[in-house]
Amino acid sequence: MGKIISLYGLPACGKTTQATKLSEEFGMVQFSMGSRLRKEIASGSELGQRIEPYVKQGILVPDELMAEVIEHVSDEIKDKGMIFDGFPRMTSQAEMLDKIAKDLNLKVDAFIYLNITPEEALRRISERAEIEHREDDKDQLAVKNRVEVFRQESTALLEHYRNQNRLTEIDGELGKDGVYEEIKKCLNL
Ligand code: AMP
Repeated sequence: MGKIISLYGLPACGKTTQATKLSEEFGMVQFSMGSRLRKEIASGSELGQRIEPYVKQGILVPDELMAEVIEHVSDEIKDKGMIFDGFPRMTSQAEMLDKIAKDLNLKVDAFIYLNITPEEALRRISERAEIEHREDDKDQLAVKNRVEVFRQESTALLEHYRNQNRLTEIDGELGKDGVYEEIKKCLNL
């Protein structure tokens, strides 16, 4: 069985980009929470309809809905492992993921924090808004909320993984390739 890895950081810190690179090179299954949630909303499902207001406002989807979103995730964790980005985002979710891993006789191997400044996050979001046209990148209040959510949740979440010696912090402003090299070093890849 492979590793379970999570990438974390401010919005636009590069977590999805890096998770995609890792999954392409090493065959790990990628689980991008933001993309999953946007797909669920786009599908028009009943769950998607309940999720939508939170994503639109840039606030966290509550745990009871998140539990439904990740209900079958363990079926997706294959031999080469799974790389999450954007999950967990708070300690209660870290506990959810610990339980999923434990039930599979696995553990969360690494929680990688891609550290960028809030100023850099805002700069990248406004750049991305022109390209990807994500509603929550274009809405100034949603952007503000997303940065604020990070401010509120990150200290306890980082502490959770630091206490378990599973936290690695990487400078997220090293450029795509530079960050990728650091991630591979941390994972001994
Ligand atoms: P992202 O694409 O990672 O920037 O996530 C976009 C939005 O999806 C966030 O602003 C939240 O509304 C929602 N979201 C993403 N990940 C989570 C999570 N782990 N828990 C709750 N809500 C989330």
